[in-house]
Amino acid sequence: MGTGDRVTSVLDASLADTAARIAAKEVTSVEVTKACLARIAEIDGKVKAFLRVDAEGALREAAAADASSPRGPLHGVPVALKDNINTAGLETTAGSRILKGFVPLHDATVTARLRAAGAVVLGKTNLDEFAMGSSTENSGYQLTHNPYSLECTPGGSSGGSAAAVASGQVFGALGSDTGGSIRQPASLCNVVGLKPTWGRVSRSGVIAYASSLDQVGPLARTVRDAALLLQAISGKDPHDATSASRAVPSFTEALDGGVKGLRIGLPREYFVEGMEPEVAAAIREAAETLRAAGAVVEDVSLPHTRYAMAAYYLIATGEASSNLARYDGVRFGHRAADAKNLREVYDRSRAEGFGAEVKRRIMLGTFALSAGYHDAYYVKAQRVRTLIARDFEAVFQKVDVVLSAASPACAWKLGEKLEDPLAMYLMDVLTLPTNLAGLPGISVPTAKSSAGLPIGAQLLGRPFDEVTVLRAARALERERSLSDWRPNV
Ligand code: GLN
Repeated sequence: MGTGDRVTSVLDASLADTAARIAAKEVTSVEVTKACLARIAEIDGKVKAFLRVDAEGALREAAAADASSPRGPLHGVPVALKDNINTAGLETTAGSRILKGFVPLHDATVTARLRAAGAVVLGKTNLDEFAMGSSTENSGYQLTHNPYSLECTPGGSSGGSAAAVASGQVFGALGSDTGGSIRQPASLCNVVGLKPTWGRVSRSGVIAYASSLDQVGPLARTVRDAALLLQAISGKDPHDATSASRAVPSFTEALDGGVKGLRIGLPREYFVEGMEPEVAAAIREAAETLRAAGAVVEDVSLPHTRYAMAAYYLIATGEASSNLARYDGVRFGHRAADAKNLREVYDRSRAEGFGAEVKRRIMLGTFALSAGYHDAYYVKAQRVRTLIARDFEAVFQKVDVVLSAASPACAWKLGEKLEDPLAMYLMDVLTLPTNLAGLPGISVPTAKSSAGLPIGAQLLGRPFDEVTVLRAARALERERSLSDWRPNV
């Protein structure tokens, strides 16, 4: 076996197997990290998943891992972080020009927890500016390409994390999901992406978009790998008052328990108008696969689904306009040159630093929250949100998980939806109700389209029942065996 083969085989292994091989000293963390760096050097010029690769830092951490006894279940394994997750000493921009040059003093809690579990931080991945978008095209820095078809989008906003994992540049990554930004790119890139229950994972040190919706979660090539990453980052954090004090169960223990007797609901409203027929067919096939494996599948209804998008774009933009007020040219990042007074510092720094989509959202949100409109828009949207949460409560009396597509379409061509914000917003119509209700959800690969593009199935669960969601996803993964389908970059 030549070195080339060795490198390939090192990168072909799952995160779980790699961690086990490092622990057994069959391979070193330095070797694995070097293999990732070589792969990045070879293909990331084409994929452009990474905004920043910290080769020096990663190799130092890898050498330290090799010199110490196993620190945790991710000991020595390279991972990547979406660039809205703070890394001490390593620039963090949220994909925005306004944060160019911002170097956090502290790790986000999720970063610190990954390190405590032994992981090696390889670099920071591209995203839509402040995670606002569905294609990663709103990044202030670069376009990321879908490894399965380089002319296509990887989805978004965690498109860099999805593309990096899919193309074998890293074993797993974190993303964030406010309205679908983990699950939708996972679906478009043939990887597993999990949004935990709101409160399961700390957001301390994660750059806020819409705080009542944001959650951080894993993207990985297998369900087990996603479970391992989730395990490392979950649980109460004294630095985030919204993190839940619930006990964290073992996410891997029941993974292979199968779906015998599990009740699965197929919501009629999630077969939306304009959905690609192949995607709808793939989801019906996934339902049949799970039925054959012993699940009980029935149709269910989530009647308020059609109001979710309007409510989401009022709540998300309202919260964003408030969260983004802190980028004033004084405290962080970009500051306009030659401003004559404080007002000009604010105006010009924000005008120069924010991109068009972020400005659109700040204006929409500020309008919706302003005196005289607040009740008509924001408060009404919150009422709709309650109705959507109740729809789910009613359905979860009857079934254990809900199955649908994660994205109504397969990956589309870069540029195709850029002129039409509504067409772009529609790409999250199947994922954003979950965030309004705060529920856990996963996207797991389920099919390959006739054009050779990935299709993901979304499974949603009751609050804090990630265990069941993961078990159902694992059952589908086992039957469909798509985790070995790698892109040819
Ligand atoms: N595409 C949605 C939005 O732009 C969701 C983004 C996300 O989940 N971060 O708001």
